[in-house]
Amino acid sequence: KAKDQGKGKAFVFDRWIEEEHHQQISREAELREAIDKGQISLVYQPIVDLMSSQIVSAEALVRWNHPVRGCVEPGEFIETAERANLMEELGKLVLQIACRDAALWPDPIQVNVNLSPRQLRSGQFPQILADTLAASGLSAERLAIEITENVLLDQDDKTLQQLDTIRGMGVGLILDDFGTGYSSLTYLHKVEVRGIKIDASFTRQLPERKVAAIYRMIARLAMDLNIYVVAEGVEDASQVEWLNRNGIRFAQGYLLGRPMPSPPTSRVEYLA
Ligand code: C2E
Ligand code: MG
Ligand code: MG
Ligand code: MG
Repeated sequence: KAKDQGKGKAFVFDRWIEEEHHQQISREAELREAIDKGQISLVYQPIVDLMSSQIVSAEALVRWNHPVRGCVEPGEFIETAERANLMEELGKLVLQIACRDAALWPDPIQVNVNLSPRQLRSGQFPQILADTLAASGLSAERLAIEITENVLLDQDDKTLQQLDTIRGMGVGLILDDFGTGYSSLTYLHKVEVRGIKIDASFTRQLPERKVAAIYRMIARLAMDLNIYVVAEGVEDASQVEWLNRNGIRFAQGYLLGRPMPSPPTSRVEYLA
């Protein structure tokens, strides 16, 4: 009898694996369709200069407008795209939409686009980037590419070379989610970046003493390296106050602006 039960369990487990596998395949097929049918769109979240309250840039964040599930956030499909070998195409689409949109914004406002490590695999990214910029008419100086440590994990020459080419075109590189990885500091000298974004998990804990010390250390380091700092995940006015007091000039977060279809083009009101 016990043996039968064991068999039953094995059967249930097999079925579960099988179902997971099927679900995976249909999710991939659905995403493939979404790309072809124009269900992918972008929202933009402002990055603000706290000294002037002006918007200096907007980060492009991908969304999937699913016919049944509605607006699906990237946390739910980027991984699928990477596993299904769709990330290069999805990333290219995101880049095209972002550049086309940003070309219509007032001139000083830049656009930040996130890059997945998969997009550097084929070696074609610099060319795709050059073509996209040319087609959109956006000047390279108004585009910044956000990379995380994941992009630099397999830091073969090919990866670093492509990043160098991108920088050579005048496109800025920004280290995203700074401080969350194992060796953020190593990458600071491996790749020449224009800025770093301190991860929201730090901002959230301000003004706790140790976190504040780390934050100040990073800001000081950035100043010495002549790169700028963006505080991510700013949600309340006391955090802005702390950033101002400690000379951190740029910030992004729900307090300053939610992701939206197109960024506001003037000063933002957030202290009122
Ligand atoms: P990220 O690049 O660090 O983007 C910031 C994320 O934090 C966004 O979530 C944004 O909506 C959210 N956020 C901004 N301000 C606040 C705040 O004040 N409080 C809180 N709780 N959250 C805030 P989203 O849009 O869900 O994106 C999540 C991640 O997905 C991004 O993290 C990025 O790693 C990835 N991602 C988004 N779009 C793309 C894309 O086009 N390509 C690639 N490769 N990755 C993308
Ligand atoms: Mg980002
Ligand atoms: Mg980030
Ligand atoms: Mg983050």
